[in-house]
Amino acid sequence: MRSLAHYAGRASSLFFRNQCWIGGRFVPAASGRCFGSVNPASGEVLTDVARGGVEDIDRAVQAARKAFDDGRWSRLTPAVRKDVLLRMVALIRDNAEEFALLDTLDMGKPISETVNVDVPGSIHFLQWHAEAIDKLYDEVAPTGGRDVAMIRRMPLGVVGAVVPWNFPLDMAIWKLAPALAAGNSMVLKPAEQSPLSALRLAELASEAGLPDGVLNVVPGFGEEVGQALGRHPDVDCLVFTGSTDVGKLFMRYAGESNMKQVWLETGGKSPNLIFPDADLDAGADKAAFGIFFNQGEVCSANSRMLVHESVADDMIERMRVRAEAIVPGNPLDPQTRMGAMVDVRHTARVAEFLASGRETARLVAGGSRVTVGASDAFIQPTVFADVPSDAPIVREEIFGPVLAIQTFRDEEEALRLAHDTPYGLAASVWTRDISRALDLSERLNVGTVSVNTVDALSAMTPFGGVKQSGFGRDLSLHSFDKYTALKTVWIHY
Ligand code: NAD
Repeated sequence: MRSLAHYAGRASSLFFRNQCWIGGRFVPAASGRCFGSVNPASGEVLTDVARGGVEDIDRAVQAARKAFDDGRWSRLTPAVRKDVLLRMVALIRDNAEEFALLDTLDMGKPISETVNVDVPGSIHFLQWHAEAIDKLYDEVAPTGGRDVAMIRRMPLGVVGAVVPWNFPLDMAIWKLAPALAAGNSMVLKPAEQSPLSALRLAELASEAGLPDGVLNVVPGFGEEVGQALGRHPDVDCLVFTGSTDVGKLFMRYAGESNMKQVWLETGGKSPNLIFPDADLDAGADKAAFGIFFNQGEVCSANSRMLVHESVADDMIERMRVRAEAIVPGNPLDPQTRMGAMVDVRHTARVAEFLASGRETARLVAGGSRVTVGASDAFIQPTVFADVPSDAPIVREEIFGPVLAIQTFRDEEEALRLAHDTPYGLAASVWTRDISRALDLSERLNVGTVSVNTVDALSAMTPFGGVKQSGFGRDLSLHSFDKYTALKTVWIHY
């Protein structure tokens, strides 16, 4: 890692791309309007960004449709598409520090995380999907006789992607990598809190040889740009990562427009089950990572700890020590492990949960909103114990560094508590008993069960939820299912 002085110096000289990227060039919003992109760690406006609207989405969708229909990308061979995407990978790698700074400045996360996790992760995910695309085979059905029935995977057409702010570059790449590799055209809407890395990404994609119109980026607000994309009659598929409430809106938009496919990765309130035979130190280390990493602004954060009553006091003490060891600080300082919350509005919302937690549960660590430099958009790592099952801090997704600890007596009670939520994104189980681990991994109704770790995730394995955590999977070869339609071609000869 470089020094704080290095990152601060580089940050002050960055050039921000701030217009819509449509048809292979930067253009202002049709309305001429802009909105300020704010660094939450300082309160400063980084740049004024084009505030897209219905007209901009329409232009972007038209550009994407034209590019798809004339085959400039969709009908290239997979190997050629792979080469372009791998050139994009190389360009992101060449500009890795700039991407790390863009996301740190835009949403407040520590530079150590954007440098070591977000940007290398994005590069890896793009590379993995690019390299996969010329290794996916279609099928031939066993018809026999004088018939050949091919089952072909076809790109869908125009894919709209609406992504959140918690991992701005990663979330864009999770959608874009399989969608583009499969031959689709795209219109990407980054979150209004963090549009800068997506705009730079589009420019680099063009430099890598992605034809004009294949990738378009329209920044702006959810109710305006997001809704326009969700309702557009010429969008074939809408992929979304964000809150459950907005996910439900996209289902409505699709139903009220052209019945486009909708795939949703939404909220979570993931439980972390700790049994008495577990390695409690390792469990506490990972639990602290799971809830405090990225300021707790992680959909699969294990925000609930369910601990066996016989080891509850031990675990609560371990979590207190770990929480108090992390102090919020300047995100540009490579020593900082807890940065700013994404904006002051979200900070205020998390602070309301802190107040509610104090009324309903026992505060073990943290519990306050704090000021660092000129900004009060920071929250202390916080642990609550003795949390009743109806407390808002254990029922609602806080999306902040706030852990709610409850106890259980036996496996059945642990499962009942684990399932007492509308969400089903992830769960963790800590035990040395392999039978218990396998049994619980089968019975837990979630998208990912991590045993003796938390938040297990890789390009090789699908990621997504059940219940109100959504449906459809990002990552792995299964991600291509969302971006392709099966077509049967039957030849009788
Ligand atoms: P959000 O739902 O408010 O916003 C997500 C995106 O939707 C943004 O681009 C936003 O502009 C857009 N949007 C907002 N209102 C809209 C509307 N009315 N119509 C159309 N688009 C609209 O979520 P957020 O606060 O940005 O992100 C946090 C949420 O994302 C959390 O709930 C978190 O769990 C979820 N998340 C889920 C995953 C996952 O993979 N399951 C990953 C990361 C984040």
